[in-house]
Amino acid sequence: MKYKELAEFYEAASSTPKRLEKTEILVKFLKKIASSGKELDRDVLYLLLGDIYPEYDERRIGISTQIAIKAISKATGINETNVLHEWKVLGDLGKVAKALTAKRKQSTLHTGVLTTEKVLENLRKLPELIGKGTVGKKLDLITELLSSASPVEALYLIRTLIGDLRIGLKESTVRDAMAKAFFSENKEAPKKIQDIIDKSNDLASVFNIVKDGKIDEFEKIHLEIGKPIKAMLAQKAKNIKEAFESVGKPAAIEYKYDGFRLIIHKKGDKVIFFTRRLENVTKQFPEVVSYVQKYVKGDSFILDSEAVGFNKKTKEYMPFQDISQRIRRKYHIEKLQEELPVEINVFDILYYNGKSLLKEPFEKRTALIKKIVKNNPYKIIHAKQIITSDEVAAERFYKQALKDRQEGIMFKNLQARYQPGSRVGHMLKVKPEERDLDLVITGGEYGTGKRGGWLSSFILSCKAGKLKDEFLEIGKFGTGIKEKSTEESKIGISFHELTEKLRPYFLEEKGKSVKIKPKIVVSVTYQEIQKSINYNSGFALRFPRFTALRPDKHPTEAATLDEVKKDFENQKRNWRYG
Ligand code: AMP
Repeated sequence: MKYKELAEFYEAASSTPKRLEKTEILVKFLKKIASSGKELDRDVLYLLLGDIYPEYDERRIGISTQIAIKAISKATGINETNVLHEWKVLGDLGKVAKALTAKRKQSTLHTGVLTTEKVLENLRKLPELIGKGTVGKKLDLITELLSSASPVEALYLIRTLIGDLRIGLKESTVRDAMAKAFFSENKEAPKKIQDIIDKSNDLASVFNIVKDGKIDEFEKIHLEIGKPIKAMLAQKAKNIKEAFESVGKPAAIEYKYDGFRLIIHKKGDKVIFFTRRLENVTKQFPEVVSYVQKYVKGDSFILDSEAVGFNKKTKEYMPFQDISQRIRRKYHIEKLQEELPVEINVFDILYYNGKSLLKEPFEKRTALIKKIVKNNPYKIIHAKQIITSDEVAAERFYKQALKDRQEGIMFKNLQARYQPGSRVGHMLKVKPEERDLDLVITGGEYGTGKRGGWLSSFILSCKAGKLKDEFLEIGKFGTGIKEKSTEESKIGISFHELTEKLRPYFLEEKGKSVKIKPKIVVSVTYQEIQKSINYNSGFALRFPRFTALRPDKHPTEAATLDEVKKDFENQKRNWRYG
């Protein structure tokens, strides 16, 4: 398909903020792709959301704004200083590319020659180029595209490259548009399509099945070992009584471990681990591979579990923030594995020996875990669990969980199925009222003196709403970060390290302030939430303090404004503030 047609779609979609109108525009576009009959056109589905591969694939375009500036300069023949100047004026590199491409003399000669296949072909080569000396090759690939792009095409090429498409399209809009385009009369369609999206995490293959309008064919999308699946998520209950009311009696109650989610796939000898963000972290946990091979029976399976750190000497469990680095570090793994050992607590099973268990009741799934996982404390065990209707027994179990330094307990309905990707009402967490939130960093300010060159304060934002992509500012923090990172103490993160983590997502720099794309999730504690006119959320955190990076969480999992409001209301009732 011509890239021009996609660019026109982007333009139309961004011309309205209304979701319904966006959906209608997309419905037309999807029908057009479906009728083209070209196999390759389905990959345009990835480009719709600014991707080049399915969500589970880890290859990302990963182009910094610096390289994008160089490419614009090279393609338009306008020097980098002028490109930078334009960026400061327009505040959007896409718009810079558009304006400068329009100035380029021969621009009209080239319009309409660029195809989506060519764009994908070049963009897909970018993540393969790693290491020193590859910048030139990357530049060539990008310049080739930009040179044959019209001004509008250049705008969207650059925005795609830097990962900031700004058309306000979400996966859920694509889902609704697919339902409307191919199942206009069927009210069940959005839910059924969501089901297969959650199972496959691949919009193009979902589109391929959906476009023929045969709902029965949906069963064709199976769980596949080695392909990540979205984890089932929990809701929150106020207390034990409320939790029982929601999930019914008797309920399975388990420790809510303070670690990170690890979804374990195994087929034959091959073992793969995914986080809840669908990232493959197998390399980081070689010891766990051998636990799975040795202590879990079965030829093929998918297990859901929580990895928890413990102190090697005292055998006490450690909080998540002390071991979070195990998810990210790709070097010195053996040393890290010695220093920060983890125990795997298995709490669910999705697939066993060639059969999906998603529709089986939890009761059956948890019984199977007990049969196939051989408990080996400090290596791999089944999650501690009781099945009871008794509130007193539940209370005792809860206290024990907190004593064992875990976060709280989980209530699970015994009859419920496993619903990938959903925050379900049949799995509820109960934990003590505490003042901490998972938020996204959306800005920062450069420091001075010994912090010169690094960001020294960071702007925190929450999500505007459950279904909204927008983020609202709620505070600034600078505490909880180390001045320097030392070899001896790997725990925590320094200003330098956090700045470098954020740098690929810098959107705009003005003086000392930087706007940052909402990508990095952090846990913070705070003393109090106040109403405030200083931030657009309407609230401000008092004394927020960084406690951990949450590389395992997606920005869409950050706390919502509603949750912040709830915490605000709750603290008013709390005697400590009386
Ligand atoms: P939250 O992150 O507060 O939404 O809590 C949900 C998370 O708790 C899940 O994503 C798991 O990582 C974790 N978790 C710990 N223990 C369990 C358990 N026994 N069952 C399910 N999830 C658990």
